[in-house]
Amino acid sequence: MQEQEGYEWKTVTDDETIIRTHAWSPPGCHPVGCGLQLHVKDGKIVKVEGDPTHPITRGALCPRCLALKEFIYHPDRVLHPMKRAREDRGKDKWEQITWDEAYDIIEENAKRIIKDYGEESIMVFGGTGRQANTYYPLMAFMVFGSPNACYAQSGWSCYGPRATITAHLMGGGYPEIDNACRYPDRYDHPGWEPPKYILLWGKEPLKSNPDGFWGHSVIDLMKRGTKLICVDPRVHWLATRAEQIVQLRPGSDTALALAMLNHIVENDLYDHDFVDRWCYGFEEFAERMKQYPPSWAAPICGVPEEQIIDVATKFATFKHCALGWGLAVDQNPNGVQLAQALLSLLAITGNLDVPGGCTLGTPIAGDDDPARDMANWGFAAGVLKPEVWEKRLGAKEYPGFSTIMNQCHPDFTLAAMQNGDYKCRMAYFHSSNVVSGAIAAQPDKWYEALKDVDFAVAQEPFMNPTAMALADVFLPLTTFAEHDGHVQPHYGLNAAFEAAINKAVTVGDCKCDIEIMIDLGKRMHPEFWNQFDGVVDYLEKRVIPKGMTFDEFRKAGVIQPEEVYRKYEKGMLRPDGQVGFLTTTGRFELYSLAFELFGEDPLPYFEEPPFTPQNKDLDPKILEEYPLILTTGARTYVSFHSEHRQIPSLRAMVPDPLLEMNPVDAEKLGIKDGDWVLIENQFGKCRQRAQVTPTIQPGVVHAMHAWWYPEKDPEAPSLFGAYDSNINTLLPNGYIGKLGFGDTFKANLCKVTKDETNEKEEA
Ligand code: SF4
Repeated sequence: MQEQEGYEWKTVTDDETIIRTHAWSPPGCHPVGCGLQLHVKDGKIVKVEGDPTHPITRGALCPRCLALKEFIYHPDRVLHPMKRAREDRGKDKWEQITWDEAYDIIEENAKRIIKDYGEESIMVFGGTGRQANTYYPLMAFMVFGSPNACYAQSGWSCYGPRATITAHLMGGGYPEIDNACRYPDRYDHPGWEPPKYILLWGKEPLKSNPDGFWGHSVIDLMKRGTKLICVDPRVHWLATRAEQIVQLRPGSDTALALAMLNHIVENDLYDHDFVDRWCYGFEEFAERMKQYPPSWAAPICGVPEEQIIDVATKFATFKHCALGWGLAVDQNPNGVQLAQALLSLLAITGNLDVPGGCTLGTPIAGDDDPARDMANWGFAAGVLKPEVWEKRLGAKEYPGFSTIMNQCHPDFTLAAMQNGDYKCRMAYFHSSNVVSGAIAAQPDKWYEALKDVDFAVAQEPFMNPTAMALADVFLPLTTFAEHDGHVQPHYGLNAAFEAAINKAVTVGDCKCDIEIMIDLGKRMHPEFWNQFDGVVDYLEKRVIPKGMTFDEFRKAGVIQPEEVYRKYEKGMLRPDGQVGFLTTTGRFELYSLAFELFGEDPLPYFEEPPFTPQNKDLDPKILEEYPLILTTGARTYVSFHSEHRQIPSLRAMVPDPLLEMNPVDAEKLGIKDGDWVLIENQFGKCRQRAQVTPTIQPGVVHAMHAWWYPEKDPEAPSLFGAYDSNINTLLPNGYIGKLGFGDTFKANLCKVTKDETNEKEEA
């Protein structure tokens, strides 16, 4: 562990105090932990700037954190707990209450519901995450004793699939681009080298700063010689600086990856040493890959055969190359196969855990069943009963999912509620904007399924459509500037560092999620929770590196683990200390015994997603009616899913939801840049503004997600215009793929027409 030399978390000058801290949502994003300096005067933040001493982000911030002051002091922020009568759900009839009263109401309802219907009838919904995303499962397991923590995105289509497939094929961790993030001297570190190529697959890291990877480091790497190859249906900013853009058809990614593997295997371009020593099942794998020559993939993907060959050759022969894999992997029913193919690509080309390749995290040791890791905390606390854990929704039906993910299965859960097999009696929205489709597919269906829940709580910094629609009690949340805490990028699966969140100011009566969890825990299970004397005590006992006090932790600044390459050669990936990977065979499994155990094909294959022009089983009438390929979900600089829509400086940059379409399609449809358009398919309809751009191919449109309008009527049925521009209403639940992962967020169909109310509105 390396600490930051000369770090001062707090500097007091004559007229202000400067607090150094590390960002976390809200209102930043998760979990990047960018360094900030917050200037505080008379108890208020007067200036926000990047911390130049942070070894990774080095003073840079993106607009979401630069708008911190606007977020914190926004007049619409909810600063006190509130309640309203159950019959007033959907109405703006809130009444301010004290924390004690709020907790009394929650305790009374939770205890009644548990007594009458069992712990499993309480569901804790989690969203984009607070404090490394761990607190909503903990609220379920350790406060209410329920096994049902729910991330309501169809196919759990964000990060979970990548992390799970990594766990199945090689055991824990998460492969990430080697951006020298574990070295205090970063790019000057002896022995580190930049990747020769980065294959950015369905990922735009500058905007998304995904999970634990600080996106701007791609630019740092390019300045040091790294070249980019972008695989994406859209030409984003980084793609315009790439050596190559592989502009494939949405949903065809797996075919492309398989064809690259075919070329590498058939032309003997693979790393024999790595394959012989560290891979299992190469013969079967090579035999399967024979089915997928580049000539087969080219027409499927709409990518020239020569380009597939060129990209595959470069990735296999330049030493070393890295992969940045994004949501294209998760949000696709063929995504498990894509993850398997991409991990296999890294493995057979010898790019795993080498300088300039993809580094591996050290798996959390000590349990054969990673899904039980946090549940074990609940068992140990005496709160979660093993027999109740067995009632986790969808766990038996999706074992490939549930042996790694500690949550209920979202599609199974929704279906069980719809068909009456499960009745949710209490919903706890732990920063989860389910109703407005921040992440959920068909959020209107979730709304319908949850409408009659006996009791509901929402904790958020702002009122939002979900809280307005369903909550009986509203708990106001702090931002990261208002509480102490802890940041660990990549949820600990490949953490570049750990660092403290340092409280700078107090705003209203807001509390952080850890504090609320402890407070409610003390009421529900005092025998366990009374041992924690507040947030800092909780952090010291359970979270921060062993043996450090919180004061020592925050004085240390950014704490980076030592980088060790080729951990599989050093016995660092297995709890038993043996060399190799944490799998049954001890090797990277090109032929997955885990998949075989789940009754699935152990080798990767291509399956056309359900709603594409190339799917031969698709009813031709659907294609006739909805001829455009719809892809969604790309990030912007100015929002984090449904957050930030009310922040003036951010909204000014992207005031309306945008539908990107090619000029050829726009002309055919009589649509001009800036026109409002209707987007429709067999599942739903919404309205966005056309952005006519050649950066997307003819025949494909991209729609922004998670739009609602804080300025519109808050009451039902409007709910802040939750369904006016909500592209997720066009995306169905239930079209999931292998192991229960993935759905059609990245590839669906739609039609687009000019919204004839255009002229009226503009006049
Ligand atoms: S990536 Fe941007 S929004 Fe996210 S924590 Fe860092 S500066 Fe804040």
